[in-house]
Amino acid sequence: MTFQFEPIGIVSSPFKQKFGIPRQPGLCPHIQGSIHLLHPYDDKAALEGLEGFSHLWVSFVFHQTMQQGWKSQVRPPRLGGNQKVGVFATRSTFRPNPLGLSVVKLERIEQHHNGVKLHISGMDLLDGTPVLDIKPYIAYSDCIPNSTNGFAEDKPERTMSVQFSSKAEQVGLSFSHEYPGLILLIEEILSQDPRPAYKKKQQNKQEYAMRLYDFDIKWQVENNRTLVTSIDSI
Ligand code: SAH
Repeated sequence: MTFQFEPIGIVSSPFKQKFGIPRQPGLCPHIQGSIHLLHPYDDKAALEGLEGFSHLWVSFVFHQTMQQGWKSQVRPPRLGGNQKVGVFATRSTFRPNPLGLSVVKLERIEQHHNGVKLHISGMDLLDGTPVLDIKPYIAYSDCIPNSTNGFAEDKPERTMSVQFSSKAEQVGLSFSHEYPGLILLIEEILSQDPRPAYKKKQQNKQEYAMRLYDFDIKWQVENNRTLVTSIDSI
């Protein structure tokens, strides 16, 4: 059996590259984005009733990594990156079928002459991610308070304190009209410590960079402190 699916929508998100994206949705609630529905799915009738739901399940394709295939075992960052578990016990992107599933907050539905946009927040999705399906999150069934969660029992802690150089803060604030909450968003993302697990053990000062919207963001990590050194508009 083979199946062929086509996207019903495309994600628009601040993340232009994988590095820096939270490892699950909901960890950085200030991330704002949208799903642009494609024709013929941008149909009012198909969305009727959706506005009553605060959260959505988004099924999508890990389109940027799908060419790399899958591995039966992976080293989840939660286990420090040196212990292997089976792919089906993880949320790894390298799966037999490269399908992702994220629960996101539905902020509002925008409908106008050239399409429909679902404004969402808190997502762990790359800009341009193809969306295969959208379903409402239903708490009575989807939320299981007494579940057991293997190696992912606790929500990852925000271990990093994040500071900004005065230059970086100035640039961030100067864009606050176009990008409200930019500084807060950067702080939220970096406090999750996006570095790969093996890098976290290194004690010496290192520089990292990520692209967020149209900004190049650079930071340094020393012990448990992050200093954002520059925010450059590109
Ligand atoms: N919540 C989803 C995804 C978890 S993995 C699930 O459980 O299925 C989350 C990681 O997926 C992010 O940190 C990012 O690195 C990666 N990612 C997000 N969108 C992607 C895409 N379109 N292609 C490849 N990787 C992507």
